[in-house]
Amino acid sequence: MTLVARHGALTDIGLHRKTNEDTFVVQPPLYAICDGMGGANAGEVASGIAAETLAAEVARGTPLHAAAEAANAAVYQRAQGHRGESGMGTTLTALLLEGDAARFAHIGDSRIYLLRGDELRQISDDHSLVGEMVRDGHLTVEEAAVHPHRSILSRALGTEAQAQIDEFGLDLLPGDVLLLCSDGLSGPVSADEILAALTRDDPQEAAELLIQEARRRGGPDNITAVVVRLDEAPDAAAAPADEAEVTEIVRPASGGVEADTSELPFVVDAAAADEGVEADEVDAADALAALRTDEDGTPAAADPLSRGDHHRRSLRRHGIVAAVLAVLAIAAAAAVFFLSTVFFVGVHDGRLAIYSGVPERVGPVPLHAVYRRSVVTYDSLTPTARTLVDERKLRDREGALELSRMLGMSP
Ligand code: CA
Repeated sequence: MTLVARHGALTDIGLHRKTNEDTFVVQPPLYAICDGMGGANAGEVASGIAAETLAAEVARGTPLHAAAEAANAAVYQRAQGHRGESGMGTTLTALLLEGDAARFAHIGDSRIYLLRGDELRQISDDHSLVGEMVRDGHLTVEEAAVHPHRSILSRALGTEAQAQIDEFGLDLLPGDVLLLCSDGLSGPVSADEILAALTRDDPQEAAELLIQEARRRGGPDNITAVVVRLDEAPDAAAAPADEAEVTEIVRPASGGVEADTSELPFVVDAAAADEGVEADEVDAADALAALRTDEDGTPAAADPLSRGDHHRRSLRRHGIVAAVLAVLAIAAAAAVFFLSTVFFVGVHDGRLAIYSGVPERVGPVPLHAVYRRSVVTYDSLTPTARTLVDERKLRDREGALELSRMLGMSP
């Protein structure tokens, strides 16, 4: 049997982002999407380099998995050489049609769905911390879908010299529809809506419908859909799958708008991250400033004074000292209160711990204390998880507990 492929593809900036960091490749029989991440414009750079490298390698006959590894090397090397792009990365989800079979290379939290008959299945794993928790049985799919840290990736392309890229295949049947999409689509749009859109005969119409649906649901992130529909060739002499000769690598222009300055390389969905943690963040410097006010002495009058003057000055000085002490007492109380409301995840004797307070010291005095210890060693963490610990970000108690659970510390 010979299958013919028809495709539709579209990307959209969404309603809340200033740039579109998604890129797609339509170069039949290769189709791919990359969802970039990183501070400033680095996400766009990463997804663009990955897409171009992948397309060029496949075009010159490199096997799909090796082409994806070349894309990893290209992004990684670029990040090493450019300040401001270090830590950038991207998802990469690629489909290569080979006769009546599909090959996939996949890393990150973009998704591949297969519609076969009336059943829709996600056939890729999400390489995200919540995706791993679902696979380990610690979280339901429903809980993962609304989890505040759902955008933190456990694997990405370009962030390390060697990437762990999934590779798998699928025998295709006539009527199969494949969807590659970024999390800006799979997040807001339900499986039922995806299924309904993919039943459209025209793949471009299906892609447009999916983008519309994601926008209708708030469009919190960049949205990309590549839809490939496989049908039986009209007769045996028909041309092989999707014989369009065009290569399309769509890197949407960001219009020169000031980019997102978030420097968290693994948080691709700033809006989602905001919900959980950042609202509770406070600047440690402010807390330290409040504590340091006690280093300020009251100015001593150096002039020789008459006894009366001296008495009046002395009374006034006592008043000033009392006022300063009162202010200091309030500041100290506020600082102590503040320190009791903030937490961070750090390392104690090589093992993960939740600390109460801020990760600073005033002279020899630490402004934090161990709140909870765990048996999980720092060395046992993945590089991604380590960056979450290394940043020692201030969180509220719930936020710190949640992160500690994600890192495998006891619940
Ligand atoms: Ca995204």
